[in-house]
Amino acid sequence: MATPIGNLGDITVRALDILNGVDTILCEDTRVTRKLLSRYRIATKTTAYNDHNARRVLPKLMERLNGGDSLALVSDAGTPLISDPGFRLVEAAIAGDIPVQTLPGPSATIAGLVLSGLPTDGFFFAGFPPPRSAARRRRFQELAAVPGSLVFYESPQRLAACLEDLHAVLGDRPAAVARELTKLHEELVRGPLADLAERYGTSDPPRGEIVLLVGPPPAAEVGDDAVQAALTDALKDLSLRDAVAQITAVTGRARRDVYRLALEISGEDDGG
Ligand code: SAM
Repeated sequence: MATPIGNLGDITVRALDILNGVDTILCEDTRVTRKLLSRYRIATKTTAYNDHNARRVLPKLMERLNGGDSLALVSDAGTPLISDPGFRLVEAAIAGDIPVQTLPGPSATIAGLVLSGLPTDGFFFAGFPPPRSAARRRRFQELAAVPGSLVFYESPQRLAACLEDLHAVLGDRPAAVARELTKLHEELVRGPLADLAERYGTSDPPRGEIVLLVGPPPAAEVGDDAVQAALTDALKDLSLRDAVAQITAVTGRARRDVYRLALEISGEDDGG
């Protein structure tokens, strides 16, 4: 799978080699991919593979792969399969024991995440939110407890309404709107959801392509009861000092609070 960003942008030498060497290149849109191929003087045959014809052409493609042909899959921009065609083909190839390789390249998800300033150690790619508000809010409720940043693709026309729903359901989390990534008019607007909803709700829809990113839920403080239960358990095997260290690390509570609770449980007085 080759991954040019934009319509003509960055592409790796390895991807060019593969595109040169395969029997046929499957394109989301042959006209778009042909621009890339002519720029790099690649003469490989192309054919369309997209959401509309996938079901119809898949058996034929599998026949070709089983017969020894090699195929490359290219989307118009970014990484195939990420809100783009290709999943059914990869699924069928794997089920048929056909080797699949990826040619890693840009994706708006990763580009937006690294520029957002939001935590990157865990994130959830949620694709395009539903277009209607009621379904969108239900979807955001499902995602509310995800312990990581959320990444959405969204159209400029729906951005304001989407931000309003995100704010209504998730509260005032930190967020970012990433527009036209890696292109001439790249723009990152970072801020709490309330500010972003206000900003985009009172202006014309922005132009171009947009990734919307939302920070993780605020860490809920583990209550005294839960800390006491964990300590009671830990004290069966560990010294008071080790139990306090372990439960402090696990719960994220202040050490002095955990120590006080441990003393209460073990019946000791901390003398203070
Ligand atoms: N497969 C692509 C990828 O890996 O990024 C995504 C394809 S999806 C059909 C198109 C959506 O991705 C756009 O509506 C927008 O939300 C997002 N997107 C694609 N390119 C972008 C860019 N340069 N800047 C911001 N968002 C982009």
